[in-house]
Amino acid sequence: MAAQETVEHKYVYDFAEGNKDLKDLLGGKGANLAEMTNLGLPVPPGFTITTEACKAYLTTGREPDGLAAQIEAHLESLEREMGRKLGDPQDPLLVSVRSGAKFSMPGMMETVLNVGLNDRSVVGLSAQAGGNDRFAWDSYRRLIQMFGKTVCEVPGEEFEHALDDAKRAKGTQNDLDLDADDLRGLVDAYKKIFAKHTGREFPQEPREQLDLAIRAVFESWNAERAVVYRRQERIPADLGTAVNVVAMVFGNLGADSGTGVAFTRDPGSGAQGIYGDYLANAQGEDVVAGIRNTVPLQELEQIDKKSYDELLDYMARLEEHYKDLCDIEFTIERGKLWMLQTRVGKRTAAAAFVIAGQLVDEGLIDLDEALHRVNGAQLAQLMFPRFRLDHEFQPVAKGIGASPGAASGKVVFTSARAVELAAEGESVILVRRETNPDDLNGMIAAKGILTSRGGKTSHAAVVARGMGKTCVSGADELDVNVPAKKFIVAGQTVTEGDIVSIDGTTGKVYLGEVPVMPSEVVQYFEGSLDPEHIDNPLVRAVHRIMTHADEKRRLRVRTNADTGADAARARRFGAEGIGLCRTEHMFLGDRRELVERLILASTDEEREAALAALLPLQREDFIDIFREMDGLPVTVRLIDPPLHEFLPPLEQLAVNVAVAQERGEDVAKEEALLAAVRRMHEENPMLGLRGVRLGLVIPGLFAMQVRAIAEAAVEVTRSGGSACPEIMVPLVGAVQELETVRAEAEKIIAEVVGDSGVEVLIGTMIEVPRAALTAGQIAEAAQFFSFGTNDLTQMGWGFSRDDVEGAFFWRYLELGIFGISPFESIDREGVGRLVRIAAEEGRAARPGLKLGVCGEHGGDPDSVHFFHEVGLDYVSCSPFRVPVARLEAGRAAITTTGSDSR
Ligand code: PEP
Ligand code: MG
Repeated sequence: MAAQETVEHKYVYDFAEGNKDLKDLLGGKGANLAEMTNLGLPVPPGFTITTEACKAYLTTGREPDGLAAQIEAHLESLEREMGRKLGDPQDPLLVSVRSGAKFSMPGMMETVLNVGLNDRSVVGLSAQAGGNDRFAWDSYRRLIQMFGKTVCEVPGEEFEHALDDAKRAKGTQNDLDLDADDLRGLVDAYKKIFAKHTGREFPQEPREQLDLAIRAVFESWNAERAVVYRRQERIPADLGTAVNVVAMVFGNLGADSGTGVAFTRDPGSGAQGIYGDYLANAQGEDVVAGIRNTVPLQELEQIDKKSYDELLDYMARLEEHYKDLCDIEFTIERGKLWMLQTRVGKRTAAAAFVIAGQLVDEGLIDLDEALHRVNGAQLAQLMFPRFRLDHEFQPVAKGIGASPGAASGKVVFTSARAVELAAEGESVILVRRETNPDDLNGMIAAKGILTSRGGKTSHAAVVARGMGKTCVSGADELDVNVPAKKFIVAGQTVTEGDIVSIDGTTGKVYLGEVPVMPSEVVQYFEGSLDPEHIDNPLVRAVHRIMTHADEKRRLRVRTNADTGADAARARRFGAEGIGLCRTEHMFLGDRRELVERLILASTDEEREAALAALLPLQREDFIDIFREMDGLPVTVRLIDPPLHEFLPPLEQLAVNVAVAQERGEDVAKEEALLAAVRRMHEENPMLGLRGVRLGLVIPGLFAMQVRAIAEAAVEVTRSGGSACPEIMVPLVGAVQELETVRAEAEKIIAEVVGDSGVEVLIGTMIEVPRAALTAGQIAEAAQFFSFGTNDLTQMGWGFSRDDVEGAFFWRYLELGIFGISPFESIDREGVGRLVRIAAEEGRAARPGLKLGVCGEHGGDPDSVHFFHEVGLDYVSCSPFRVPVARLEAGRAAITTTGSDSR
């Protein structure tokens, strides 16, 4: 034991010792530099200090034991290899000290270049550079500036002001006009600034410079901008950064030197070819600073054919080796090419699919790997029309991107006006403070929906997503005045008929018409593009990868659909059934009258008459859906929302009644309605008389729906079709509730189906935490469970799903309490745990119990992986999300390790 304890921990790796799979330890940059070194590519020699050293430093506030000695040993071998010593007065070795975490965090952490320069070695550097004094003093002043700012927190502006002063004295605005003497003077000025702020001289000892720079890179892991970036990108906070110490090479030694970036394929479209930029006589930071314009990489062929050919050869080798698009940074120092960095390159959604398809064609990867390399978020992006934003359009407001897409049209403020104008062939955008079920027809008619209130699970958002319609919600800069038919934004008044454009992905709102392009991927899913006969590489790649995902996935994918038309579209998108048919929409429009009669009924006869009138209408609804789904399972949920949602709002009724009374009109019906609304008023309607509670309290309501479902199934079957209804009871919290409903339903079903052969399942939603925790009991009475993760999240966290996202989630995200809204992506530890418990205990009580999910999470990529892991049978999501869920279910089935493809 004792012997083991004394074995020294290895904190420093020579490039020759690492490889690309050691990203956890060496960071992305270090691991890839090692990989290139081992491939025999010309990487400037160097070494990597591990993320473990960084973590140890950040926890204890000091370098771990042994680190200093290991750095010394690696530095010595670097010096031997280069034949130069760090900071040597005659022939100095200079190094760069660069951060490099596991996941790329561009520009978030620190880099110090030219470490090793001091008052003496600056002379040696000049000699090395063929007597180029200007270059040497410019390098030195850059070191003091970068070191001062990064390592010693000297305010950067002070150096910038001194540089401006030097230029002013010279009568120029261009850094390049400063000669060696000017720069020598600037070094003096910089040293004074350094001393003033730090109380000490600029360190002349090269090794001290190096140690302080390494420490500053460690500390930059916790710099505020890095912390914020990690939160946004959902990068864990405890990974730490590695530090790369690399021999400096210079691209600014003259016309035969330069620097550039290259991509092995076009990261925009995925097309094969040579892409990149080159800048002669410059260092990498000049490219970033945009001091001079770069030239296309192809022009390097004329400038330096040898380096160009070599680079192309390395690009081909890297792509062959990484089997993916690589991006590369390189420098040419006096005609010698050096590779400074490579990594698997970022790309657009379209390029991701196209490249994955090409690499399969080229035999570099198989279809499993191609599937792993794309994701549902990319597919979703490709399914929405986009704005052609090459114009000078500026957004006037930004809300929540509630349902993606791009839509332009005339502003309308009421559902009725939306329907009217749409019937005349106009594109309209329905603008409301918030929507309610009454706006449904207007939402169907509109091209897009814009609200000034509400979050991602507000009525507008959920319904719009269900329809695949563009929606921006919670754009609170809009002051919407529906009665006056106008809204005010950014000091401008927009009235009915004015044109606006909304981007449901970014949440941005524009005045005027921004041109829109349709999605070819949707055209393909809709069946209007034949993948075998189309010369569109994107569509061919999507087709191929989707087909593979379907072969691999274990999860079935159903859709949430309430109408035959939605069901038909979802089937074209690949839905294998309906996982949630919400029946409340069937009680709106001209049927509202019947619902009012039901609510106002004062006798059994009146109530039964209202229900009897609703029955045939409901039956027709279900016939339509069963025919469309043609034997695929259809889960019909019994009515869920509080009934007063079907009545006019209290204030409106009160005003109507008062006005009518004033005029002496007959208001008996309105008065009765008003009384009913008052009676039914609830402080917390989402926790009130809704779901199964309605079925238990209002005689005959569920019975009517059950009968309509069973009769529709029988009729479809008798006419030669096939129907597989599954009746689902909402909001169950106790098995007794379900048992009561089930006993009544079974009687009706037995009576209706007779010997027709129709089988009707009865199951429940699991959307109340108590249901999840007593799932073992509930399973005794349920033939299936479907997780209602919207309500389960609402009740699990105690977050009102209609309010909180717009109200305060920004703060929660800022504080890192969660990285994404739990209404959007399942909260695995909390709400997810409820799902896991219910799945396990439900299946323990009833082996083989069918399990699905029908909350919004059913179409969220990360959540689909979770549902795969906990063993659900299917996910159900809005029609437009069906392809995303199919793709992610396929990826979940082939993904054995967590994906780190950021
Ligand atoms: C749910 O709560 O997750 C659900 C699907 O039901 P609804 O969204 O209709 O409340
Ligand atoms: Mg619910």
